[in-house]
Amino acid sequence: MTLKQIRTILEESDRIGTVQEIYFEGGEPFLFYPVMVEGIRLAKNMGFRAGIVSNGYWSTCVEDAKLWLGPLAELGISDLSISDDTLHFGDRNDSPAKCALAAAKALGLPTASISKAKPQVQDGPDIGLGKGTPEISGGIKLRGRAVEKFAEGLPTRKCEELNSCPYEDLVDPKRVHVDSYGTVQICQGISMGNCWETPLSELVRDYDSQKHPICGPLVRGGPIGLVEEYGLTLEDEYVDECHLCYAARLALIDKFPEYLAPRQVYGLE
Ligand code: SF4
Repeated sequence: MTLKQIRTILEESDRIGTVQEIYFEGGEPFLFYPVMVEGIRLAKNMGFRAGIVSNGYWSTCVEDAKLWLGPLAELGISDLSISDDTLHFGDRNDSPAKCALAAAKALGLPTASISKAKPQVQDGPDIGLGKGTPEISGGIKLRGRAVEKFAEGLPTRKCEELNSCPYEDLVDPKRVHVDSYGTVQICQGISMGNCWETPLSELVRDYDSQKHPICGPLVRGGPIGLVEEYGLTLEDEYVDECHLCYAARLALIDKFPEYLAPRQVYGLE
């Protein structure tokens, strides 16, 4: 994303009137370090709080990580979230994520570590009748193209039970994600429109979940509502709501390319 595009998004965010915080996420925002730093400077000058989500790949050691983070400490970011888990860097104690978090702490930056793990099946609580229903540990949300990889081998639920969206407020979204293609995403791969074609403030102002061909069915009946409204033939069971939602959207992607974007979220390009 260019500085000009970042300026446009910030101005449009200001116009919306309710946006308080801008996050620079990825992909990986540190790949575009000077543009990211300048974008944060612009956001701060306009009165927004600014946060970053990174996998810390750039942090080769604590001393060097301080060089990367020094300008951000001076700008006063409100959060630096680093992916610190075995999926990114294995079990290393000196992983880039750990070095980045140590450097951030030394500079007084507010930090959070994001930890993902491949979900595991474990016995449910023993209620005196033997082991309970198997539960999934790992706290992972099965959204985006990693769904199929993570879902493999996990217990499933009947589609009829998957009748509401558990994580996003699709009626009155509290956040959106804008990618470099201009796609304004309500949830990964569900688009409100393209902000390089229609100003972001107009997209947000005119958004009506009931008129949206994907969000409407999801609001009315959850993922199974999406399946039923479009008469899709899928499996009888899925791991959770997001797993079924993803499968239904993948089946609809060519019917609604404008609303199911970008295709990269579905591993298609
Ligand atoms: S059910 Fe669908 S829209 Fe809701 S959080 Fe899951 S993937 Fe997103």
